[in-house]
Amino acid sequence: LTTSAGFQHSELMEMQRILTAPHINSTRLWERHRAIAQIGATGRGGVNRQALTPEDAEARRLVLSWSEARNYSTTIDAIGNLFIRRPGTHPELAPVMTGSHLDTQPTGGNFDGVFGVLAGLEVFESLDDAGFVTKRPIELVIWMNEEGSRFTPATMGSAVCSGAIPLSNALETTDSNGTTVRDALSKHLTQLPKLEKRNLGTKGFAFVEAHIEQGPILEATGCQIGVVTGIQGLCIYEVEVVGFEAHAGTTPLSNRRDALVAAVDLIGKLQDEFQDPADVLRFTVGKFEVAPGSPNTVPGRVNFTIDLRHPNAEVLGRVGDAVMRICAGEIKRCSVTARPMLQSKPVEFHPQIIDIVRSAAVRRHLRHMNLVSGATHDSKFMSAQTPTAMIFVPCEKGISHNEAENVRKEDLFAGTQVLCDALVALLDTEI
Ligand SMILES: [Zn+2]
Repeated sequence: LTTSAGFQHSELMEMQRILTAPHINSTRLWERHRAIAQIGATGRGGVNRQALTPEDAEARRLVLSWSEARNYSTTIDAIGNLFIRRPGTHPELAPVMTGSHLDTQPTGGNFDGVFGVLAGLEVFESLDDAGFVTKRPIELVIWMNEEGSRFTPATMGSAVCSGAIPLSNALETTDSNGTTVRDALSKHLTQLPKLEKRNLGTKGFAFVEAHIEQGPILEATGCQIGVVTGIQGLCIYEVEVVGFEAHAGTTPLSNRRDALVAAVDLIGKLQDEFQDPADVLRFTVGKFEVAPGSPNTVPGRVNFTIDLRHPNAEVLGRVGDAVMRICAGEIKRCSVTARPMLQSKPVEFHPQIIDIVRSAAVRRHLRHMNLVSGATHDSKFMSAQTPTAMIFVPCEKGISHNEAENVRKEDLFAGTQVLCDALVALLDTEI
């Protein structure tokens, strides 16, 4: 069916759904952010609420108390992900899903992760308040251990849920005190209300995660909404440079095999090789160790890491090959070897879900732009099974993983309204 204005019938239906989407309650949303920010508050404006700690449990209990007041049901899987469900009239249909995480870095901010959870809950309650009945159920996921600061790796809950990491491996992971995820999780369960268990794995009709950008681009361009098209790929390498330890006072420069001098030269060569006029490639040497680390001994060995990121798999592969080529053989009479430690391919989100997010921003007249996420999120693993996209809102000066993390209220509200409109478009609502 095509109308005289040239719209497809399905497009008109989608517009109708978005135009009739409920308005979110911004006061409620803000008050909830304030309430969660009290849990694990450091007194310096931030929070310490690491995965499976009493603070993490308290934050989860508070969100569960709000959802119980609305009679939503909650289930928990074997790695501790929570799934809060608002029923639809067709329970057999795959749910539309949203969600993020409540755990934080040890010196974390008040919005990373929390925003996506509270925005999702706000959508549920706005649907209730507006009397919306939906065909599909909607589920809010609170992922376990997104941050990876207490137990590595990050995004553990979604990785196990999607089958990328075996459950048993995750459960045997220990924190710096030797406590396993298994023990921390069984203690955590005693700190939560009794919840029905569900099987690992989930396949939704769609998944949309709202999150703060954690970078400076949206603020710099004056955009309120980032339409996230994917997550860039990441490769980590360990490089070892071996020279020869010698006396700093007696060994002439011409005779030395100085591993530090060689390593610095090597990093300079890599810097030159990775010049990127578009400034998209990320190249970081973040860890650098010199041995033996004595002021009067010529360094005999240097170990450093390379963190490479790019949204395009082909470019990332080419740059990774260059690392292996440059960090091999001999440099300044020292031997060099590189070892790949982690290879995570770029993720492209689902074009239709991206379009739905963009349409919502357009119809609310919000300045928006396409973005590729520089950071990793649970959406990476969700996108393997479920059509996925993300919504970013700007954060002040791009600061995140920091107690100074801050977000303007109007941006939180805009992001939540866009999430609401996008989910409503996906839910096939009947009023
Ligand atoms: Zn996060």
